[in-house]
Amino acid sequence: MRWILVGASTIAAEFMIAAFRANGHEVVSVVSSDAGRGRAYAERHGIPQAFTALDEALDDPGADAVYISTTNEKHHPQALAAIAAGKHVLCEKPLAMTLAEAREMVAAAAARGVTFATNHHLRCSGSHRAIRDLIAQGRIGRVLSLRIFHAVHLPPHLQGWRIDNPAAGGGVIPDITVHDADVTRFLLGEDPATVVAQMSASGLGQGVEDSAMSVWTMPSGAMVFAHESFTHPFAGSGLEVHGTEGSIFARGVMTQRPLGEIELVGATGRETVHYPGHDLYTMAVAEFAAAAAGTGQPAATGEDGVKSLAVALTVRDAAASGRRQDVNYGDAR
Ligand code: NDP
Repeated sequence: MRWILVGASTIAAEFMIAAFRANGHEVVSVVSSDAGRGRAYAERHGIPQAFTALDEALDDPGADAVYISTTNEKHHPQALAAIAAGKHVLCEKPLAMTLAEAREMVAAAAARGVTFATNHHLRCSGSHRAIRDLIAQGRIGRVLSLRIFHAVHLPPHLQGWRIDNPAAGGGVIPDITVHDADVTRFLLGEDPATVVAQMSASGLGQGVEDSAMSVWTMPSGAMVFAHESFTHPFAGSGLEVHGTEGSIFARGVMTQRPLGEIELVGATGRETVHYPGHDLYTMAVAEFAAAAAGTGQPAATGEDGVKSLAVALTVRDAAASGRRQDVNYGDAR
């Protein structure tokens, strides 16, 4: 595939450009709002062209896909433009600022007949896939609860719009709670139904929350606890799934790299669970390409991105109101 990068972003520089190239794809251009930054970015990453106007980049008939990794408020208009130009779109999470915008993006892609996917990379990790398989095989019996530990320390080079700009989609809930919502849906195969939550600014957030804790109920009766933060240098990430016949303990698995340990504990003892160590983002691009070729599904579809956004927005509403909220998934549920 031949990709246009929309956004001279850190995530593209650190992971996605390499993931495209590892799949044998080309990155043909980058779009930046700043001509100098775009040019420098293109030079640094060996990208042939840099544009400031999205339409000019989209005019390239040789480009067949667009990767959107701008700040969150830009995803919606940029995705609609790319879809209208007939390009397949891989869009960063959160898909948009509102549920209605996210739904519009998914509907536009369906109407235009292009692939539209959400870059929820954790679904692509060998660790999460192994945990999902253990649950699906009944190895822990009926799932009672899932606890997600995703309180990290936001590295200094990412402490820009995320910690002080609500209009750009800042805050830990749109940044990390969306991932935890997707992980929950991926592992348990059902959609959170109700939410209670609290949020706070605990050192980094200025005008946005930098920490959140919430509890979700699932239609099966399982409960989920999710903890996200930008301010925890030594907490470590992980998740636990507890069932009637066993428990899964996964340490260090809420990460961008194929890291972490998984242990399955049951009546017969403890066993270490081994899993494939492929690159998460390379897998995401491979599955996106298969979907665009009509031979597969993206790891996370547009609908998955709508639902993870719906949960995150509900967590914020519940924290702001102090009340339990039903998750509003909008019309196309
Ligand atoms: P960045 O802050 O690195 O980039 C976002 C935008 O900020 C860029 O599009 C760029 O604008 C602008 N920008 C970049 N560098 C500078 C600078 N030095 N001065 C001024 N502006 C600058 O964001 P991230 O890469 O961290 O995140 C981008 C998106 O990707 C977000 O939606 C985020 O949620 C998502 N993300 C997803 C991850 C995942 O694993 N799925 C991981 C990390 C982020 P312009 O393009 O106009 O030059």
